[in-house]
Amino acid sequence: MARFIFITGGVVSSLGKGLMAASLGALLQARGYKVRTRKFDPYLNVDPGTMSPYQHGEVYVTDDGAETDLDLGHYERFTGVASRQADNVTQGRIYQTIIQRERRGDYLGATVQVIPHVTDEIKRFALAETDDVDFVLCEIGGTVGDIESLPFMEAIRQLRNELGHGQTVLVHVTLVPYIAAAGELKTKPTQHSVRELTSLGIQPDILLCRTEHPLPDSERAKIALFCNVRKEAVIPALDASSIYAVPVQYHREGLDQAVLSAFGIENSREPDLTRWFDIMDRQAHPEGEVTIGVVGKYVGLPDAYKSLHEALVHGGLANRVKVKVQWLDAELFEAEDSDIAAKLEPMHGILVPGGFGVRGSEGKIASVRFARERGVPFFGICLGMQMACIEGARNTAGIDHASTTEFGETSEPVVGLITEWMSAEGLQTRNVDTDLGGTMRLGAYPAKLSGNSVVASIYGAEDISERHRHRYEVNAAYREPLEMGGLMFSGMSPDGTLPEIVERPEHPWFIGVQFHPELKSKPFDPHPLFASFIAAALKQSRLV
Ligand code: GLN
Repeated sequence: MARFIFITGGVVSSLGKGLMAASLGALLQARGYKVRTRKFDPYLNVDPGTMSPYQHGEVYVTDDGAETDLDLGHYERFTGVASRQADNVTQGRIYQTIIQRERRGDYLGATVQVIPHVTDEIKRFALAETDDVDFVLCEIGGTVGDIESLPFMEAIRQLRNELGHGQTVLVHVTLVPYIAAAGELKTKPTQHSVRELTSLGIQPDILLCRTEHPLPDSERAKIALFCNVRKEAVIPALDASSIYAVPVQYHREGLDQAVLSAFGIENSREPDLTRWFDIMDRQAHPEGEVTIGVVGKYVGLPDAYKSLHEALVHGGLANRVKVKVQWLDAELFEAEDSDIAAKLEPMHGILVPGGFGVRGSEGKIASVRFARERGVPFFGICLGMQMACIEGARNTAGIDHASTTEFGETSEPVVGLITEWMSAEGLQTRNVDTDLGGTMRLGAYPAKLSGNSVVASIYGAEDISERHRHRYEVNAAYREPLEMGGLMFSGMSPDGTLPEIVERPEHPWFIGVQFHPELKSKPFDPHPLFASFIAAALKQSRLV
C-alpha cells in the first residue's frame, strides 16, 4: 500500500509549499520510488476554471481535461508524472458531491455533517487511485488556522490514525523570520503554528523552516525542543537561486533522509540527482541571453502565466541561454500615440499567449503584424494563434472585418464558437447559453501534422497530442484565403475539421498553436516548440 506524506503550511501563505511538495517528489523519485502528488484546496469554487488569473494565477490543465491549481504544474515539471483529475480537489467539489448525493437520497435519512460525511469524502479522495505508487504527497492549500481548512486537517488526523504507524508522515512548512532591528531569527511564529496543529490533534514529523538567513544550530535545537520533533527533522530552507536548485538544496539539508527516517525506512542509497545537477549547471553558466516579449493581458501577475514562463526557461536550458521575459501589456499598444516598434524592436522573439476576452486584442494583433512584417520569431498560443489568423486575414487576405465571435457579432468569423467536437467520451455539443464553468474543449487531443511542415520537423513526428483549454476555434472555412496569404494550416484534428497549428513557411519562425504546449514542458525535457522558438530567437539576437 502507498505511504502518505501530508504537507501543511503555517505562519503565512506563499511559503512555496507547492515547490516543496514537487521537490520532495523529485527526491523520492531520484531514490527509485514511484510517487503521485496531489493538492487539496479549501476554497469553495468547484474548480479554479472560473477564477480570475489575477487572483489565483494560471489554471493548469491535465491530459484528462481537469482545470486545476497551478501547483499541479510544479508537480508535473519536477516529477514528470502526468497529473490527473484525481490529483486536485477543492472543498467546493467535495460539498457538491455530498449535496448531490443528499438530494438523491443516498444518505437514507441520516443528518449530513462535516464529520463524518465531509471528512470521509476527503479521505476517499486522498486514497483514490494510489495503488500503483510508493508515496502519495498531499499538499493542503491555505495556512493552518484558516477556518476553511479545518475539515481537511480533521481528515488528516483521522487518516493518520486509521492507516497506522509508519504509513503517514506530516511535513509542516513554516517561516522563521529575521528581525533586522534585533539582528535575530525568530522561532516563535513556528512554535505557535505547530501549537495550532497539535491543538487539532496533529503532531508534525518534519518542519521545513523557510528563512532568509542560515538557521543557527541553537535555533534548530530550540525549534526541535519546543515543537516536539527530532533536531534532524528541523530542515532549514534558505531561499534558493532558482526553483530548479531546490531539490538539490533540500537534499543537502536532509529532507528526503528525514522523511524516510520518519517512515522508519532504511535506505542508505544516495539519490541520483544527475538531471538536477545538469539543469543547475545550464542555468549557472549560460552562453548567451535572449529577450522574449510576451504581449498579454494578465502581465501584472507573472503567476498568471506560470507554465509559460517556465517553458520559456526550459527553451533556454535546451539552448544553454538565459531567457529574459519582458511582460508587455497588450492594451498599451492600442493607444493612438503608442510606439509599438520602439517597444518591440529590442525583442528577439514575440509571444502572444492564451487569454480570454476582447481587452488588449487589437494590441496583440498589432504585435503579430510587427513580428510578421519584420521577420521576428513569433509564437502564438491559443488566443495567440487566433490573433495570428485574424491578423493574416485582415492584412494578407483582404478580409478587413475579420474577427472572432468571442468579441461580439462579426460578419467575418475567422474564429468562431465550437458547438460540436469529438472527444474521447464521444461527440460533445455546446451552445452559446451553456454555463461558463466546464464548457470548453479541455485536455489532451491528438493532431495530425503535414509531413512537409516546419512543425513536423520540430516535433520529429506527424502525430502529436497536446492539451487544450478553449471555447473558440479557427474557422476552417477560411483556410484557402489564409493559405493564399502565406499562413499554412500545418496541423489539423485527425478528422480534418479543426485547425490545430498554423505556420508561415516563408518567415524565419512563425507558428501559432491552438493548444498549450507550455503545460507539458519540463526542465529536463524542454518542449520541442519552446526549444526551437528560443533557438530562433538566439539567431535573431545575432542579427540585431
Ligand atoms: N479565448 C479563446 C477561446 O476560448 C482562447 C482561449 C485560450 O487562449 N486559452 O477559444
